[in-house]
Amino acid sequence: MSSSPRYLVREVPMPVDAVGTEAEALPQAVAEYLDLPPNAVADLRIVRKSLDARARNRPLWRYAVEFSSPRPVQHPRVSNVKTDGSGAENSAGRHALPGKNIAIVGSGPAGLAAALGLARKGYAVTVFEMGKGVVERFRDIRRHIKQNVLDIKSNILFGLGGAGTFSDGKLTARTRNAYTDAFLHELVAGGADPSIEYLHHPHIGTDKLQFIVDKFGVHCEEAGCVFRFQTEVVDLVLENGRCTGVEIESVADNAAVRETLRFDAVVIAPGLSAHDLYRALEARGVEMERKAFAVGVRVEHPQELINARQLGDRVDPRVTGAAEYFLTWQNDYGQAAYSFCMCPGGVVVPCADAEGALFTNGMSYSNRGTVFANSAVVAAVSPERLAGGILAGVDYQRELERRAYALGGGDGTFPVQTIAAFVEGRLDAGPLWKTSFQKPMRWANFHELFDTEVASALRDSFREFERKIPGFIAKGLMIGPESRTSSPVRIPRNPETLESVSTPGLYPLGEGAGYSGGIVSSGADGFRFADVVAEIFADARKA
Ligand SMILES: Cc1cc2nc3c(=O)[nH]c(=O)nc-3n(C[C@H](O)[C@H](O)[C@H](O)COP(=O)(O)OP(=O)(O)OC[C@H]3O[C@@H](n4cnc5c(N)ncnc54)[C@H](O)[C@@H]3O)c2cc1C
Repeated sequence: MSSSPRYLVREVPMPVDAVGTEAEALPQAVAEYLDLPPNAVADLRIVRKSLDARARNRPLWRYAVEFSSPRPVQHPRVSNVKTDGSGAENSAGRHALPGKNIAIVGSGPAGLAAALGLARKGYAVTVFEMGKGVVERFRDIRRHIKQNVLDIKSNILFGLGGAGTFSDGKLTARTRNAYTDAFLHELVAGGADPSIEYLHHPHIGTDKLQFIVDKFGVHCEEAGCVFRFQTEVVDLVLENGRCTGVEIESVADNAAVRETLRFDAVVIAPGLSAHDLYRALEARGVEMERKAFAVGVRVEHPQELINARQLGDRVDPRVTGAAEYFLTWQNDYGQAAYSFCMCPGGVVVPCADAEGALFTNGMSYSNRGTVFANSAVVAAVSPERLAGGILAGVDYQRELERRAYALGGGDGTFPVQTIAAFVEGRLDAGPLWKTSFQKPMRWANFHELFDTEVASALRDSFREFERKIPGFIAKGLMIGPESRTSSPVRIPRNPETLESVSTPGLYPLGEGAGYSGGIVSSGADGFRFADVVAEIFADARKA
């Protein structure tokens, strides 16, 4: 790269059907946008790329790019790029952990990132994961989908990579910072396409993600982490109020084996479905608080409908990618509903982590190639309206999942309803609709599943969404319920040290602790933790 000054320009437009490759067309688009001769733009680096579909049938790529130029560029749209390395997170005020041996509970994005970051700083890290490695887990998921045989500890939610592994692999994050960048960078090191580092809405797809997650695990091992799969942390060890270890349960010779292990610090990154662990924490007096969450249904539509509405009917979605949507609704009484985890060209997947209960989620393959678009549509549930203790939200989710199982007939069949029938308050009749969902289904009435507040919020939101995407009601199918979109609990922690406010030695991370939502923000939380912790070598020198 040349040593001439670097410049940054944002919002550079380029038609999605521009002639030539991106490498050929983009420098020209930048030069045209800035009214410069073509050879004035060199060493170009894409910082961000997003689809601008505001003008129907005339979608554009919008780029933010850095470039060099043989002569000085002065233009109102251009700013100079500082090359002094600023932009790194503030490294002041790092906190030493009480010692070198660290337990990490959970190998989801948060746990993996924390493990890798700590191991690189010299800590001796053991990761406890109640599920299995990617290959065995894949087999268990297939058995669940094809043969209705559920392994409650090895499924779409639990195992190496956590809920992220067999997910859609959308890598969106509300905010981008050095930690989200570090996490995306690590995925690239594991084999992801480098464009995920600059795309506004990066996506990997479940077919590729599982190999990338596997590689992430290998990188952790190379850095010195030890993984213990099929090993559940069933309790914490507390001494004088301080967390000094974990009690684990694993299986040997078909018998459950319990062990108590001591650690200098315990990091819990168990995800939002770690209900048993939540109960153990509550019993141990670890401070937790209720938080708002959301429940609803997975809706599915023809992708063609979404493409036509969002892009126009003359746009080739193979060029732009299958179209997405994000829809919100709220009324004057504080009720709200929104679409969430939208999977263009995806499939609806069954989830369960207990017998006699069921719920859904969505994912897609890297080509986003099915003819269906699915998304969760969920209504907010505020903690104030639930009776019960700290875990009232968990009980609410569980109850919903049990009721859905019963509504489907009590044999693992999933309840489905057309959105039209739900909005009109009637039961569907006739053959089931074609869908990407591979489990048995039967027509049911979702008004029997949800309480009035959730049901009315869903119904009114569908009416609003119909205004934004005509056909949303008539062509939409509901499969459900969608009950695990967000954690109903938070485990409060010190904002600087990230240590539990009630229990020294315990560090709650990720989605299950209520500090992230989604793959990237959870991974970023793990890297943030590793960053606020002092290097073990510096710590050892002090001792
Ligand atoms: C089907 C599906 C699709 C999704 N699609 C997307 C998407 O496209 N984009 C996105 O950003 N997000 C998506 N998500 C959500 C995303 O996966 C989560 O937000 C993210 O994985 C949370 O990361 P985490 O590390 O906090 O927890 P998790 O990923 O939930 O990992 C927690 C891990 O801890 C383990 N664990 C729990 N309790 C214990 C215990 N007591 N002992 C030992 N181990 C334990 C679990 O087995 C699990 O592996 C999807 C989720 C699902 C289920």
